Amino acid sequence: MRLPCPVPTLGVFRVPLLFASLAAASFAQVQAPDRATAPVPEGYDAALWARALELHHRSVVVDTHSDTTSRILDEDFDMTPRARSGHMDVPRIFEGGLDVQFYSIYVASSYFGAEDLSSKEALGKSRANASARRALDMVDGYFRTLDRNPATMMHCVGTRDIANALAAGKHAALMGIEGGHAIEGDLGLLRQFHRLGVRYMTLTHSNHNEFADSSGEAIGRWGGLNRLGVKVVSEMNRLGMMVDVSHVSDETFHDVLRVTRAPVILSHSSCRALASHRRNITDEMLRAVAANGGVVQINFNCGFLSDEYQKQRDLWNSKVTLRTRAIESLHPRGTPEFEAAVARFNAENPEPEPVPLATLIAHIEHAMDVAGEDHVGLGSDFDGVPCVPKGMDDVTHLPRITYWLLAHGRSEDAVRKVLGGNLLRVFEKCEAVAVSLAGEAPWRNGKDDTDPIDR
Ligand SMILES: [Zn+2]
Repeated sequence: MRLPCPVPTLGVFRVPLLFASLAAASFAQVQAPDRATAPVPEGYDAALWARALELHHRSVVVDTHSDTTSRILDEDFDMTPRARSGHMDVPRIFEGGLDVQFYSIYVASSYFGAEDLSSKEALGKSRANASARRALDMVDGYFRTLDRNPATMMHCVGTRDIANALAAGKHAALMGIEGGHAIEGDLGLLRQFHRLGVRYMTLTHSNHNEFADSSGEAIGRWGGLNRLGVKVVSEMNRLGMMVDVSHVSDETFHDVLRVTRAPVILSHSSCRALASHRRNITDEMLRAVAANGGVVQINFNCGFLSDEYQKQRDLWNSKVTLRTRAIESLHPRGTPEFEAAVARFNAENPEPEPVPLATLIAHIEHAMDVAGEDHVGLGSDFDGVPCVPKGMDDVTHLPRITYWLLAHGRSEDAVRKVLGGNLLRVFEKCEAVAVSLAGEAPWRNGKDDTDPIDR
């Protein structure tokens, strides 16, 4: 099998010229009438807050993971007016100075169905696999939202589009697939999603799939990538689609770094040195991402930021499950008695207290200290997680990150990179790699797909 050449160390790229040249003036046009007068949060220094707001709104702010698409599809959520629930909508996006959002084309592992990974013959035979269909429905929800908001949002498929959207004062919207099972093991489907505009793919969600192992399962299936996994990474490099190693097993992570020809991203992962969740990234992996020229986008979920929080959450979840079952045995679900008993239980057992904003800032700064300020960004997981830090209640609070990084003595240049400059540099590099690979033959599925790779 033809394997891609070993990866050269890609080193650190400069902030793209395209974005360096986007002057503050372009962003002054962004519709955020309240931003100059956004009230000083309690306990914040007024002068530093004013400086942070000014810096925040003239920086390109990028978030690589939002699950608002799940709300759009499952709840018929309309992003246009300001909503009372959830983490983001169009008015709040502008208020928070969020310029670029990758919307998650998320496919839950349940759509993978009872796919049988036990043998070559069984692969792809399960009729229960509805993953690609689910991803297509998500894509449709995303485009319906864009159709509703032509004056404020622009669909983008590359860095040049992003620059144009921002120059027009619009929010730049992009798509990233979460869960590589969305392509159902088919390289043709990967290319179809690219043609639809998807610009990154998280190789796995919490389940192993046809080509890669996940951090969400205790025992590995392929020991990392199999041969199909190498083809998927290589094909993504060829297409200019960013390879996302959030959620994957440590073995998959290392296999990907061995074979990729472009820098990788972790679209929404936090630091394992500070919180031991297995989908977080170790210090060794942070250094590997830096050597690859990639970027880790820090996840805001309380459970990925604090072991103590996760412990309390697990406890609370099991209490809720047990209690709900007990109530159900007394009153059928949906009856007023059932609802009243649930409400009583909830009042007496509130959810665990969210972690403070300082915990999120600590993860961002840890990654900056270990990987370097060129390799860290933001991947909120807004609308996809049960808890965000107190003080980071929704997208309007994003300028507080800018404030605390400045308060801790980080330079304006470093802050701008973390807010979005690093991700844009990586995206632009992936586009350049794709240009350099023009003419390379597309990969095809083959009989060797499930074979192990040489390590
Ligand atoms: Zn996720």
